[in-house]
Amino acid sequence: MIPEIEQKTAAEIRAFQTKKLKKQLAYLQAHSPYYQQIFQQEKIDISDIHSLEDLGKLPITTKEDLLQNNADFFCVSTEKIIDYSSTSGTTGKPVNFGMTENDLERLAYNEAISFACAGIKKTDTVQLMTTMDRRFMAGLAYFLGLRKLGAAVIRTGSGIPALQWESILSHRPKYLISVPSFLLKLIDYAEKNNIDLNTCGVKAAICIGEPLRTQDFKLSALAKRITEKWNIQLFSTYASTEMCSAFTECEYFKGGHQHPELIITEVLDDNNQPVKPGEIGEFTITTLGVEALPLLRYKTGDLVKLHEEPCECGRNTPRVGPVIGRAKQMIKYKGTTLFPPAIHNVLNQFEEILKHLIFLKTNNLGLDEVVVKILSEDMSAEFIENLKEAFQAKIRVIPNIEFITSTEMNKILQTHKNRKPRWVIDER
Ligand SMILES: [Zn+2]
Repeated sequence: MIPEIEQKTAAEIRAFQTKKLKKQLAYLQAHSPYYQQIFQQEKIDISDIHSLEDLGKLPITTKEDLLQNNADFFCVSTEKIIDYSSTSGTTGKPVNFGMTENDLERLAYNEAISFACAGIKKTDTVQLMTTMDRRFMAGLAYFLGLRKLGAAVIRTGSGIPALQWESILSHRPKYLISVPSFLLKLIDYAEKNNIDLNTCGVKAAICIGEPLRTQDFKLSALAKRITEKWNIQLFSTYASTEMCSAFTECEYFKGGHQHPELIITEVLDDNNQPVKPGEIGEFTITTLGVEALPLLRYKTGDLVKLHEEPCECGRNTPRVGPVIGRAKQMIKYKGTTLFPPAIHNVLNQFEEILKHLIFLKTNNLGLDEVVVKILSEDMSAEFIENLKEAFQAKIRVIPNIEFITSTEMNKILQTHKNRKPRWVIDER
């Protein structure tokens, strides 16, 4: 089930998106209090926009704009909203989102074609191991997408390995939707309870929240630890509430596919200029066809690389590589520049580490400081040496390492409670 437009040539896709963009701009002009004001202030004439290259003539939207003017971004009256959700607020106050009937239909379509990209079919059974409530748009999107595909869903929600396994063994789902680190917990439970991982019928997991691949599309340390014990395929997805769209990998695992009927993507530098093809920049999106809270040139804060060569699966749409890091969470440390996912990847190599948190701080000289707090089964001097060597080899710097107890870890996690797994705490 590959939508026709995704198999067209790059030029045809651009022409198609230009048409959609013009429609979207007319909609913003007519219905968005926020963009009406911005267009007027910046003397934007939307009839000047004739191609995707003209996007540069339009203003960008930042997270701060959205947070400060949240209500003005709504294009419909509250009677038309049938579902409310919000961003996770990982880096601050959450932003409120609402969806109309058509938005929910668009969300279902988005997720159905994304799941189809990962190979899910009508006849498959899928165990949904994320929350659907807590104003979480993705959980709802998964359910609606599977419903649209016609697949069977088992809504087990997050956590509780015993329940997950009881359900896997009785319904034999082919696919799981999960946070990758939770799959390690399932493996652990299976090993302790004599469950044979490789005959349980699970073929693949669609994963959210944590990086599964390195920039050259090799398995991350976390993905390796999962697949060494459990012979399943792991599909990465990239999505956010603001994008109202998902980027999911196909069977060739070369980044998440863009759906051109739903979203326009740009990769911009610090001056809001497009980077050269294949270079790293900030992922910037324009939603298409969203009624309640559409966004124009929204800078997501995520640093990524776009891969534009056609994919072997038959889709000619660009693919987004694994997120390198959040632009705001860049660390200048001991002469190098690095991002938390690289540190996360080193820590994930070690089975001894049960949980870890990466703290970003500013020291009294005003410089960045990194402290990793670790709950570990092994706290020996030898283990610390191994850890330091791994940091030196992989990222060329060694952060401060502190062991903490399970009680201390839970206390920290309690104060930083979130829907998504939390492994970075930026205190700068
Ligand atoms: Zn593909």
